[in-house]
Amino acid sequence: MTQEDDALRREIRDWIAREAPRDWRTASTHEAFVASQRSWFAKLVGAGYAVPHWPREWPGGGRSLAEQKIIYEELARADTPRLLLSFVSTYHAFATLAECASAQQRSHYLPRILEGETWCQGFSEPGAGSDLAAIRSRAERRGDVYVVSGQKVWSTMAQYADMCLLLVRTSADGPKQAGLTYLLMDMRLPGVSVRPIHQIQGDEEFAEIFLDEVEIPVSQRVGEEGAGWAVAQATLASERGLTLMELSYRMRGAMLRLSEAVHAAGRTCDAGVLRKLGALATRVDAVCALADRFLQKRMDEDERVGDASIVKLAYSRCLRAWTNLGVELADLAGQMHAPITFGDLNSGNWMADFMNSYAWTIAGGSDEVQRNIIAERMLGMPREPKNWITEARP
Ligand SMILES: Cc1cc2nc3c(=O)[nH]c(=O)nc-3n(C[C@H](O)[C@H](O)[C@H](O)COP(=O)(O)OP(=O)(O)OC[C@H]3O[C@@H](n4cnc5c(N)ncnc54)[C@H](O)[C@@H]3O)c2cc1C
Repeated sequence: MTQEDDALRREIRDWIAREAPRDWRTASTHEAFVASQRSWFAKLVGAGYAVPHWPREWPGGGRSLAEQKIIYEELARADTPRLLLSFVSTYHAFATLAECASAQQRSHYLPRILEGETWCQGFSEPGAGSDLAAIRSRAERRGDVYVVSGQKVWSTMAQYADMCLLLVRTSADGPKQAGLTYLLMDMRLPGVSVRPIHQIQGDEEFAEIFLDEVEIPVSQRVGEEGAGWAVAQATLASERGLTLMELSYRMRGAMLRLSEAVHAAGRTCDAGVLRKLGALATRVDAVCALADRFLQKRMDEDERVGDASIVKLAYSRCLRAWTNLGVELADLAGQMHAPITFGDLNSGNWMADFMNSYAWTIAGGSDEVQRNIIAERMLGMPREPKNWITEARP
């Protein structure tokens, strides 16, 4: 750590002590939660901590990896709110716009994101999740517009989004990937309807999006028609990078909650429990180190296929172990859960955390899919037979 790094750490700690909301977990309605997310994001933008990974011309952008780490570490250490509402905008939409969009699209949308415009990701469909290329939502070009009909599902916070990163099918000919096109869709267009999905823990973190003859200007296309698969890779890569570093740091920041649970359960002399706690602390540190190494490799342009899958898999398995230990320690009291957790993964509401931990074995590619990538594309093991799932069904 350099003197500059130390100074940055002190500066952020002071700022967090003054500005971070303390009561954000007590929001009892979705509307109150969304309002608190918007206000926290605006504060972060104002202070230059919202988008340290953006280029230098943006407020707080152009930070080195070491500086980004310090910012995320301090935000996690102080248990500040995770930006559930704006992470698709600042990570996914930014990466897509920065890597693949036209200069005009970039200069139109990036400032709006910092002003609080929120985005959702409209990729998954019923029947197109792990096999994303099976997308069926259809876009037909008619003059200056694409007319889009179909259905999207599991779109995080879509009910509050202004814009959507939309992957659609423009052709049914040739390989599945070659018929996909990438569009930026205004969620207020006629024909777009959104239905929140009520989850087992009381959250409504995702929504279904129904598209009925929605007219999207051709100027809203990113890349060429039929090149949507390549653009989608830029979007997907962003969710396997910084997002995981931030989440890993948050899990490490919340280790204190597990030690508190050990105390509360009166098990500070229970050698079995202490062994589990120690093993978990080491494992959490290892996940953080994996996330750090991955980001460094990406910045050095040295990323290999499978690297991201290792971090994703290590994080999701560790989060499961983290919440399992919490539920075990909290005993019967741990069976209670808060009615709304808003995608919080390390809240200390153990049953809710436990249920939420399953989400991360699926989001951004399931554990099974990550294992396939590591086995087949990294280790060179034999590929699984095509369509084995559907063919195995009676
Ligand atoms: C928290 C969260 C947030 C999300 N946010 C978004 C979002 O904002 N936008 C969006 O578009 N999507 C989002 N998703 C959807 C996510 O991308 C999909 O759920 C995921 O890709 C899996 O697809 P699926 O649900 O259709 O399951 P399926 O693909 O149907 O998989 C079902 C099961 O089969 C297994 N399986 C599938 N294929 C194989 C295989 N080849 N080998 C072995 N096992 C296999 C899977 O591992 C899984 O257990 C989100 C999901 C979660 C959980």
